[in-house]
Amino acid sequence: MFGGEPLLEHNRPIIEYIIQKAYEVGGAKLSAVTNGTDLHAYRDLLDPDLITIRQITLDGPPHEHDQRRTYADGQGSFARIADNITMALDLGVRINVRLNIDRHNIHFLPALADEISARGWKNYPTFNVYTAPVQATNGQTDTKTTFSSWELDRALNQMRIAYPDTHVIDRPDDRLKNQACMLFSRRAGPLLRSTFCGAHTSMYIFDLFGDVYACWKRTGDPHIRIGAVTELGEFVFNESLQNVWRSRDVTMNTICRRCRYGLYCGGGCASQAEKRRGKFFAKFCDGFAARFRTSVAEAYLDHVAGVAVAASPDRGCDR
Ligand code: SF4
Repeated sequence: MFGGEPLLEHNRPIIEYIIQKAYEVGGAKLSAVTNGTDLHAYRDLLDPDLITIRQITLDGPPHEHDQRRTYADGQGSFARIADNITMALDLGVRINVRLNIDRHNIHFLPALADEISARGWKNYPTFNVYTAPVQATNGQTDTKTTFSSWELDRALNQMRIAYPDTHVIDRPDDRLKNQACMLFSRRAGPLLRSTFCGAHTSMYIFDLFGDVYACWKRTGDPHIRIGAVTELGEFVFNESLQNVWRSRDVTMNTICRRCRYGLYCGGGCASQAEKRRGKFFAKFCDGFAARFRTSVAEAYLDHVAGVAVAASPDRGCDR
């Protein structure tokens, strides 16, 4: 489900209802993208068989986060979220913290790295914190303020030289590098994919109005709504639009079809391709060739230097 905060304390009866229905259907796995403010109210439900936490987003170190996300009484929310993260980690819950980074907030990362170290989160094997570039897909974000994935990766590399403690925060391409490390150490085969993300396979995003989307980056845009839930609880789908979303893969245009990186990239983000190139089925490389070559080179250098391979990072939701 998308829109609003799912794990508010007063939502608990609804969440319990959804869990029960999921059990009745069988085989469903529930995970939540949450702001973490009321996670303490779900302590007993934080179980792989009930709810897993897919992602918690922080907006910066305490003073910055609290300026951006305040309660109605003016209080900040960082301390409450941080206590809930520690509570969940103590229970053995996997926590992925996502940091959406642009040119305005990147300089907060050293202070946030200090906060992560002070709270001891990196000592928990189930903790991961990663960065993703803010993307200008909503028509309101100025592209001059954003990074591409490649630019952000390079900027974080530089930051690690000046502030070594920021190593606790993953770059966007640490996942790619780690895949290459696993290949060199023969711990895993290549992770090939023909599509960029779940929008082109089986992802359904339900917003609070009952509208259904394939892509969560443009939820709320009626032009990409693939269906809706009626007041009678029936699903009504726009089959032709759904087919458009589900048919984008790496064979969709002649450039991607011939690309040597195709089965690692998947053809890039459809929403970005449409915004930047005006075509849904256009390529959106996002610097993938350079990112791939650099990640493999870094992995190889680590491999010959005998650097231990990290456990595969479990990323949040932007793929
Ligand atoms: S790197 Fe560019 S050309 Fe290659 S598959 Fe990805 S989007 Fe297509």
